[in-house]
Amino acid sequence: MITKPKGTYDIFGNDALIYKHIESIITNYMNYYNVGYIRTPIFESSELIHRTVGDDSDIVSKETYDFIDRGNRKITLRPEATASVVRSLIENKLYGNRNDQIKYYYFGTMYRYERPQSGRNREFTQFGVEVFNSPSVVSDAETISMAYNILCELGINTTIVLNTLGDAKTRKNYIDALKEYLKPHLNDLCADCQRRFESNPLRILDCKVDSDSEIFKNLPKLSTFLSDEAKNKLNELKNLLAAMDVEFEIDETLVRGLDYYTDIVYEFHNEDGLALGGGGRYDNLVKNLGGEDIKANGFALGIERLILEIKNILSQEEEPISNPITAYIMAISDEEKYQAVKLANILRLNEISTEICPNDLSLKSQFKLADKLEASFLIILNDEDLQKGLITIKDNYTKDEEKVDENDIVDYLSNS
Ligand code: AMP
Repeated sequence: MITKPKGTYDIFGNDALIYKHIESIITNYMNYYNVGYIRTPIFESSELIHRTVGDDSDIVSKETYDFIDRGNRKITLRPEATASVVRSLIENKLYGNRNDQIKYYYFGTMYRYERPQSGRNREFTQFGVEVFNSPSVVSDAETISMAYNILCELGINTTIVLNTLGDAKTRKNYIDALKEYLKPHLNDLCADCQRRFESNPLRILDCKVDSDSEIFKNLPKLSTFLSDEAKNKLNELKNLLAAMDVEFEIDETLVRGLDYYTDIVYEFHNEDGLALGGGGRYDNLVKNLGGEDIKANGFALGIERLILEIKNILSQEEEPISNPITAYIMAISDEEKYQAVKLANILRLNEISTEICPNDLSLKSQFKLADKLEASFLIILNDEDLQKGLITIKDNYTKDEEKVDENDIVDYLSNS
């Protein structure tokens, strides 16, 4: 038997229903928030991904799927989609007038060579939003509330963990102090942090290996270096979120694992502290990738983690998720089957979910199948009725049965 590659999965059955449910809620919310859809390639030039996410990030240094294609090009399967959306924005000049806030959302698979475990796959799905021409903190508040409202609508309990990396001046002063503090302890840090010390010292705060060490307990605090401007922005954001009843906590150690963030960063945690998604502001990225000086912010949510959360909630509820159909058409003879196919086609074209039984099964078995599909109505065809232009319909809940003129069947089912 040929099996799926490690770290990938098939979605079917109940998970598929949940997946489609999430997708449809997201589509609704994207309409409410006036966000347009964008679809970018699953693979990009390695240069784009490596430069955007950061050569020194865990993602690029350990997790990307890089390969040389048949035309000798360096290609990377996307590990996230912000890089692609920004590339597309620049390449297709999507930024428009500087007064226009440009908002895009994507929904697609990402690839990271991680050690697979529950909620951590090598192929996974992210839904994300990117907002351009958006220098104001009002835009951060809007994007954060967008993700928060979607999670609430899905019934998922989440805590927003919020931090600010400050403006460029704050970050520079902090990095100087961090390096000064860490210099005498350099040999005690893990190999990754020793490398980060030169290439990207802020990333050291993200270290999972050294985080419990004595050295880390006394690290200088970023918050004490914040400029008045950065502090004001964070305060304004807190007020805006509070005005929308969005609940949050501040975590001064949150830096996020990607290189491009500036100022506000945040994550959405579940009750066990697992990240369901995250985002922040990336004011320099468009410019750094060769575009204009366009300020931007955005977030991404991991769909598989949302599915796990929803499954967890459903397992505590009595009613399982289901997708009942409206009509089940029963037929035995060849003529009845012919009529069943014709009628099913008409019903479906009239937006009535309908199923038929193409196999040779007894009426009893067909009744069982209709129950399994939770059909609201049973349409029982028989040659005698058909000759008179009549169709028998049975309400599968009340068990009431009546004969309806074949020309009235669509109206009957649509109005029931
Ligand atoms: P990140 O940009 O790395 O913070 O990822 C955003 C969200 O994507 C995370 O909070 C997870 O929900 C999801 N995610 C990231 N990596 C994986 C993975 N390997 N498997 C499943 N979901 C993931």
